[in-house]
Amino acid sequence: MKPDAVNLGRTGVSLPGSPNETGSENDEEPPGSPAASEPVPASAPLSRPARKLNVVPLLRPRIPSSPRVSAFRRAFFPAVSEKEWNDWQWQVRHRIRTREQLERMLVLSDSERGAIERAQARLPVGITPYFMSLIAREDAADPLRRTVIPTMEEFVRSPGEDDDPLGEETQSPVRGLVHRYPDRVLLLVLDFCSTYCRYCTRSRIVGHGAIYPSRARLEQAIDYIRRTPTVRDVLISGGDPLTLNDERLAWLLSRLRAIAHVEIIRIGTKIPAVLPQRITPALVRMLRHYHPLWMSLHFTHPAECTPEAVRACERLANAGIPLGSQTVLLKGINDSVPVMKELCHRLLRMRVRPYYLYQCDPITGSAHFRTAVHTGLEILEGLRGHTSGYAVPTFVVDAPGGGGKIPLMPEAIEGREGRDLLLRNFRGRTCRYPDVFGEAGA
Ligand code: SF4
Repeated sequence: MKPDAVNLGRTGVSLPGSPNETGSENDEEPPGSPAASEPVPASAPLSRPARKLNVVPLLRPRIPSSPRVSAFRRAFFPAVSEKEWNDWQWQVRHRIRTREQLERMLVLSDSERGAIERAQARLPVGITPYFMSLIAREDAADPLRRTVIPTMEEFVRSPGEDDDPLGEETQSPVRGLVHRYPDRVLLLVLDFCSTYCRYCTRSRIVGHGAIYPSRARLEQAIDYIRRTPTVRDVLISGGDPLTLNDERLAWLLSRLRAIAHVEIIRIGTKIPAVLPQRITPALVRMLRHYHPLWMSLHFTHPAECTPEAVRACERLANAGIPLGSQTVLLKGINDSVPVMKELCHRLLRMRVRPYYLYQCDPITGSAHFRTAVHTGLEILEGLRGHTSGYAVPTFVVDAPGGGGKIPLMPEAIEGREGRDLLLRNFRGRTCRYPDVFGEAGA
């Protein structure tokens, strides 16, 4: 996820016997798959005993895939049943990763074709069949396609870019745990995602098997949190933590929930946009036991708000999980008022609050994605007052060098005349506010 992005790099402490150390880990093995799973300790306590909840059923019966998705399945996976297609582990196992697979499904541009082989050395290519079904076959400028298919521009290093623009390595007291802000930590569970975003702030480590969800490493992080009573908020991220299977996720959540000073747990994930099949009834039943639990989702473009994504968010929201979206501002993808407004409106209808709009970090090879900062301010100007306040995210720059998130707002104060503060409203009209106390303090 972009939120609270962090670099653990390859310089972190290796844990004895960890898959990374032995080099035996295959980063392409889905972490939630049986082959990749460690046994979850039978003794792992749930802080709240699992109890039967006497509530109205939350979940609708299975709804068939949307027509576009079904047509794609029939064209490229004709032997695969609807049931298999909707199995999230099938989706992970059948991710599209090679040039041959991509050429079967897309008409590649020269730039894309050239980049695909080279990309494996940096951020790998990986796309769930579901997300591939949303991509335009012939249009290389298609917004969703640009977010997941590399181009040669990815290999151009521009001034000011850095592999670790936020300088985060120094803020990890324990491998995989970032403690930047006083009262909260970011726990990176793994570096695997079901679908890789070409603009990922952690592209230098994500997808390379550098961070593995070994129990030994997670225990170290949990121990740090337990020994640090100022930490009241734990953000679980990665990679994508929802690629863990239910048992492993429950083990982690229960361990965190057992720490008295951890007030809230948040999960950062792009799963509802790229693999909505993962939001199963069993998953949300499990998650309900660990409230207060929040989720930061990662939606980029209105085209991601499919019926499948709507259903996934509905399940999460019905389980009482407050949902927010963190969106990266991307040139030619979502950098206009109409596109951003449409995205924010669709998110609200999905019961997801547009939370942050991020200025794209200056990671190496990101120039083709980055806009000027004032573009973000213009978008905010086009939203503020023109739509519901809930539909207006906070625009932030994550300061290079680890300075943290800095919110930016269009300037609304035009000046002062005597005791009156001159304010510009959403229509550009100057309004006066009798700022008597401000005048005294001036
Ligand atoms: S989903 Fe994965 S690849 Fe995409 S931004 Fe998040 S961590 Fe990076």
